[in-house]
Amino acid sequence: MWGAIEHLGRDGRTRGYLRDAWSPADLELRRWFGQEAARRGLDLREDRNGNLWAWWGDPSARPGVVTGSHLDSVRQGGAFDGPLGVVSAFAALDLLRAGDFRPARPVGIACFTDEEGARFGVPCVGSRLLTGILDPDRARALKDDEGDSLAEVLRAAGRDPGALGRDEETLRHIGVFVELHVEQGQDLVHRDARVGVASAIWPHGRWRFDFHGQANHAGTTRLADRDDPMLPFARTVLHARQAAERNGVLATFGKTRVSPNNANAVPGLVSAWLDARGGDEDAVRALVDELTDFSGAEVTVESWTPVVDFDAVLRERVAAAAGGAPVLPTGAGHDAGILASAGVPSAMVFVRNPTGISHSPEEHADAADCHAGVAALAAVVEDLCGS
Ligand SMILES: [Zn+2]
Repeated sequence: MWGAIEHLGRDGRTRGYLRDAWSPADLELRRWFGQEAARRGLDLREDRNGNLWAWWGDPSARPGVVTGSHLDSVRQGGAFDGPLGVVSAFAALDLLRAGDFRPARPVGIACFTDEEGARFGVPCVGSRLLTGILDPDRARALKDDEGDSLAEVLRAAGRDPGALGRDEETLRHIGVFVELHVEQGQDLVHRDARVGVASAIWPHGRWRFDFHGQANHAGTTRLADRDDPMLPFARTVLHARQAAERNGVLATFGKTRVSPNNANAVPGLVSAWLDARGGDEDAVRALVDELTDFSGAEVTVESWTPVVDFDAVLRERVAAAAGGAPVLPTGAGHDAGILASAGVPSAMVFVRNPTGISHSPEEHADAADCHAGVAALAAVVEDLCGS
């Protein structure tokens, strides 16, 4: 399975992945998901929000045990973030079927749409729409860098943007959701463990800072006459680092859009995206308030996810089924966190990442650790199917 997808959406120069939602690479990955479902005789469904579900058994008869993740990537991302969870879900099912596994409830494999938000700016669009956390009108109006709205992109992909929104029928099918994911840190390295289980997801969000100025000629406009938005932006980036250290949280400006984006022009507009997260919600909010005041920019909240504590009973059960795996918190958002915050019993299994690097072509997990992840996931699914 890994060999079938590792070339899709890969930048031959950097070896990084470009798997924007609904891009040709993403559509190719979705087709691959359908083929893997068909090969196993699973019933493939696409819900109203573009999420894919491959069912063994009928979930309308009884809610199922669902596992999976996403196939889209951040721009110049790694191979594992997302696909490891989907491939491991199919592999865990194969492992269970190779034995005499007869599940007492349906088993589903999920592929959530647009988890990373690389194209439209909002992460976990598929699970946020499914649960009703994201307003469908707002989703339809989201625009990519080309100026195309999500509604237009969906229509071009043969989907009905009018169908977006909370999907009670699909939600009723999910009895419990377990997402396997490559660890985005080195906790498991320090604990000398191949797999772990998530305790909680930190509160996190994205804010767009628009710094307005006056575009003008870089050669003929005197310094004194300039209204250059790059300067308050630069001051804000430096201030964000200091404020983050003071507040004990993380703050990152990782994406900017400069207009007109000419080497010989004073910019007229700098838009920059702040990603802020931390263990303490009040500290994250205080940081964003401080930066909003300091920057003088027009600030728009693009997403906000409060702290998500995974169900404690389920978490302990998953940890036990996974062979006594350690329990750790994470600073990264996931579809499992969105489902958990909407009241769907959810858990996460992490696979060790030797360098901790993620959202980069350097992202890695050793094959032996991936196999341990599949074995743990199979044990978890088997345990959850027993009741
Ligand atoms: Zn991911």
